[in-house]
Order: sequence, then structure tokens, then C-alpha cells
Amino acid sequence: MAVDAPYKLAGVMGWPVAHSRSPVIHNHWIAENGLRGAYVLLPVQPQNLEKALRSLPVLGFVGCNLTIPHKVEAVRLIDHIEPMASRIGAVNTIVVEADGSLTGRNTDAYGFIQSLRDAQLGWTAAAGPAVVVGAGGAARAIIVGLIDAGATEIRLTNRSGAKAQDMAQEFGWPVQAVAWDDRHDALGGAALLVNTTSQGMHGEAPLDLRLDSLPVQALVADIIYVPLETPLLAAARQRGYRTANGLGMLLNQARPAFEAWFGVAPILSVALSDRIQATF
Ligand code: NAP
Repeated sequence: MAVDAPYKLAGVMGWPVAHSRSPVIHNHWIAENGLRGAYVLLPVQPQNLEKALRSLPVLGFVGCNLTIPHKVEAVRLIDHIEPMASRIGAVNTIVVEADGSLTGRNTDAYGFIQSLRDAQLGWTAAAGPAVVVGAGGAARAIIVGLIDAGATEIRLTNRSGAKAQDMAQEFGWPVQAVAWDDRHDALGGAALLVNTTSQGMHGEAPLDLRLDSLPVQALVADIIYVPLETPLLAAARQRGYRTANGLGMLLNQARPAFEAWFGVAPILSVALSDRIQATF
């Protein structure tokens, strides 16, 4: 490691943020690539977000990730926003430019799509209808990712039906809202099922969804990563479906951010995956 190489700081800004696994991921890549720098937790209360963002260049940060509750609010506080982040309506990555201005990106859509490609060689969004369960913040990134990947039909269902309808209207075809009561039948003919709700997370009830109508060739994805195998994924695996868990999305959304800050494309290794899993 060259001692005269610039020391780069990055981090994750959230409130609360202590639970974040991002420092494990980025500090692993910093060490693996022999870089000088560190990725730190940045606990920032919502009322301090603007001041904290403007402090990044002053403190020598190359950028940061944003997590709950800052992803949406940051959109109006930054200087430039990439089209993908603008369509999603949320920023998960800030890059400090050479002139000190702040650019907002969203790498969640990329992370999700790449996690499906990693889980199933040759996966294509055009294989058939996708069913997305949940219409919260993460669902927006997943829908944009699926549209850009070439999805021909996206059936969106949410407990609060109006949110699914609003989102379907905003994005237009191929997104269509399906009533919550019809979610079980909506799986008929689908090639992909994605849970984007918090149901199935550690401490939450399992997602209430019957898989009977889902074709055997379908891929079942859950973006939750604690636990790694949610009740939905366990049921899917027992029925013989291929599955993708949320760790793949978490790791893949981190890759473009790391490359933007540190100038090195990091790799996903078994060692890193094991390291993250040891934190659960
Ligand atoms: P969010 O904006 O709060 O949305 C939560 C979603 O869960 C909403 O659609 C909500 O429906 C639904 N929901 C909550 N309780 C429910 C219940 N009892 N029955 C049915 N639906 C219910 O949260 P988010 O940011 O989208 O995150 C959602 C999940 O994704 C979290 O578990 C988060 O950890 C995970 N996530 C993972 C990654 C990753 O990298 N793997 C990235 C982002 C998020 P209503 O609209 O009806 O309330």
C-alpha cells in the first residue's frame, strides 16, 4: 500500500444506522484491494441531513450511502441527480465531485437485477410476468430495475391497495395493480415472484401468500436478508422453486458505489459472503 496514496473516507448515513452491514462490505473491499481509506457509520438525525451532506466534502469524504430515513429527503438537497435515482425518487449513494458538489445515484435497482442474474444463470426479465408484492420504497427500485431489464408484465400487489394503484399509474405499462385479495391467483403464469414487504423479516409474521398457482419454473426472490431464508423462501425451496435471497441485492448494490468512490471494481467472494453471514 503506497503511503502517499490519498486516504479516502466513505460511510453510511442513517438514523438509526448501527445495524448496517455496509461497513463490513466496504472495509473488506478496501483491505482486499490494498487501498488507504475507511468506511464508517454516520448516525445523522433527519433534521441534520442537509448540514451533514454539505459537510462531506469539507471532511474529505468521497461520498456516502444513505439509508432509512434519508433516501427520499436527500433528493431535494443534492446538486445533481442521475436519471435512475430520479425515476426511483430516492438516492442511496452520494458521490462528492471534484468541485465539492454532490451527485445522487440509486444502485438498488442494479443490485436487485444483478442478484437475480447471479442466482440463475441466463435469467431474463422477459421470461414471463413478474409479481411484485409490496409497494414501499424498495419496490420502486425493483420495479424500475425490472422495467429497464425488459419486463413485459409486472403485477403489483400491496396490502394498502391505493399505493399499488398510484405506483402502477405513475410507471404505466408494464406495471398493473392487482387487488391484495387476488394476490394468490396473481401468481398464475408468472416467471418471477418478489417479496418487497417487511413480512418474513426477523420478528415479523411470514408473508401470507399461497404458492399453489405459481409455475414450477418460476424464480422466487425475497429482498429480506435477516433471516437469509425467509419462510417464503423456505416454502418455495421445499416446493422445488429456484430462490434468490436479499443478501445478493445488498452486496450488488454496494459494488457500483465502491467503484465510484475508490476507482476499483470490487468482486463478490465467498469470503465476503461468509463474513456478512457471520454478523447475523
Ligand atoms: P417500506 O417502504 O416501509 O415498505 C414496507 C412494505 O411492506 C409496504 O409495501 C407495506 O405495505 C408492507 N407491509 C408492512 N407490513 C405488512 C403486513 N403486515 N402485511 C402486508 N404487507 C405489509 O420498506 P422498504 O424500504 O420498501 O423495505 C422493505 C423490505 O425490504 C425491508 O424488509 C427491508 O429490509 C428490505 N430491503 C432490502 C434491501 C436489500 O438490499 N436486500 C434493500 C432495501 C430494502 P403497506 O403499504 O400496506 O404498509
